[in-house]
Amino acid sequence: MDCLFCKIVEGKIPAKKIYEDDQVIAFEDINPQAPVHFLVIPKRHIASLIDLTEDDRELVGHMVFAAQKVAREQGCEKGFRTVFNCNEDGGQTVYHIHLHVLGKRQMTWPPG
Ligand code: AMP
Ligand code: ZN
Repeated sequence: MDCLFCKIVEGKIPAKKIYEDDQVIAFEDINPQAPVHFLVIPKRHIASLIDLTEDDRELVGHMVFAAQKVAREQGCEKGFRTVFNCNEDGGQTVYHIHLHVLGKRQMTWPPG
């Protein structure tokens, strides 16, 4: 399988990794949309949010808590935006599920 983020998990493609545990990694987005912009991904390949199953409940919670921990470490005490883009209409471009975390600027709504 030719998956960019699986290659980052395996260390075959370099990334600025800022967190790792047994289930997830977090790394800086290569094209940041805010002063803080990192992605939390599971080490196990799941293509998109729509592909999650009941068996993934704990893993998704783990991703959210990793996002919280790293956002704190990155100084986002004033708040931050979390985003899962899902499939085409959601604007997903990399089909390995990832949670965007953006911070250190004022976010606006609605998103583009
Ligand atoms: P999405 O559009 O939600 O699928 O987001 C994919 C994100 O991955 C984008 O914000 C890209 O900038 C980011 N991205 C793509 N390639 C890399 C890479 N090699 N390292 C870090 N981030 C990447
Ligand atoms: Zn993958």
